[in-house]
Amino acid sequence: MKELICTTSNTHQYPIMIEKGLKSRLSQMKALFSQYHKVMIITDKNVAKEYLTEVERQVRMSGPKVYNIVVPPGEKSKCLDQASSIYNELVKCNITRSDAILTLGGGVVGDLGGFCAATYLRGIDLIQLPTSLLAQVDSSVGGKVGIDLDYGKNLVGAFHQPKAVIIDPLFLETLEDHYMIDGMAEVIKYGCISSANLFVKLMGYTYHEDLIEDIEEIIARCCQIKRDIVEEDEHEHGIRRTLNFGHTIGHVVETFYKFKKYSHGEAVAIGMAQITKKTVAEGISQADTYRNIVEILNAYGLPSKLPNMPLDKVQEILFTDKKFENEALHICALEKIGKAEIVKIQKQQAIELFK
Ligand code: NAD
Ligand code: ZN
Repeated sequence: MKELICTTSNTHQYPIMIEKGLKSRLSQMKALFSQYHKVMIITDKNVAKEYLTEVERQVRMSGPKVYNIVVPPGEKSKCLDQASSIYNELVKCNITRSDAILTLGGGVVGDLGGFCAATYLRGIDLIQLPTSLLAQVDSSVGGKVGIDLDYGKNLVGAFHQPKAVIIDPLFLETLEDHYMIDGMAEVIKYGCISSANLFVKLMGYTYHEDLIEDIEEIIARCCQIKRDIVEEDEHEHGIRRTLNFGHTIGHVVETFYKFKKYSHGEAVAIGMAQITKKTVAEGISQADTYRNIVEILNAYGLPSKLPNMPLDKVQEILFTDKKFENEALHICALEKIGKAEIVKIQKQQAIELFK
């Protein structure tokens, strides 16, 4: 088993455990689970169908009483109404501060369940059991939890580090292919911002056979990169911003098409390619960086070309980006593959990125 320890600024420490088959060995994690009287599992319908019975049984065997809440799948569940019904259920089951929430699912369940854990009774313990590739390499690590408002995604949230992250790559056996590809966009992102080695390795795989062979190692590498970044900058004042590589442009693409035409991973892929096209042209990035990014994205079935969007509409969306601070935006650009830097641009300059 690969085990990484994540230490955050308030000296909170938690393990990130990664191994095929961990979901069938939860009952052996007595030191973790037996500290709780009750564990509330929060999951969604798709994941519940495949895994809830087994996970419930395993956790129960390790000590605590186990309850569950199953929400509908999809981003629409990441809302205040859903959080509110979860709070009510937590009260009904008499969940106290010595109990824990365990999130079993993708990033939606992790963010929603994590948000409830951060806020219910001013915070109770959270254990993340991520089941999608995106959740295993990204959202389950780092403590960001939250929900969406009608005005935009992730507008309400908290930093609430988990007590443990338990990653079983075997969950991915039932994940639909397009969600797998979505997660790959974030994996490629880690290569771009932090590891030329990982990038080159990913270039060498044929999707999807030999990639799956190595998936445990790849997930561990991504978690390690994210762990290192989060340890250095938990609250995103500096280096954590590099995790947003491709996301500023991606956010505009997703929003322009009302979250229907492009998935998050596809939009981020377009964003990574487009920003690099611009920074190569300006001499910020090494000349071959753009070509390499386009090549790897296309090899994994991800798009790289910015769609035609009217600039007035782009501006309207861009200016509502919550990451604007005092009329300026911090964006992540690559010096070369594996080395990122943060560039501060003024509001009016940002529109140039879309030309
Ligand atoms: P998701 O949770 O909606 O999962 C995608 C789909 O796959 C869902 O239909 C789900 O039911 C299904 N699924 C998940 N695991 C499965 C499995 N093992 N087998 C079968 N089906 C499975 O979406 P996601 O892509 O995992 O996460 C996206 C969310 O993550 C977004 O809301 C985004 O804002 C959030 N996010 C958060 C962070 C963070 O740091 N907190 C980082 C990145 C993304
Ligand atoms: Zn992302």
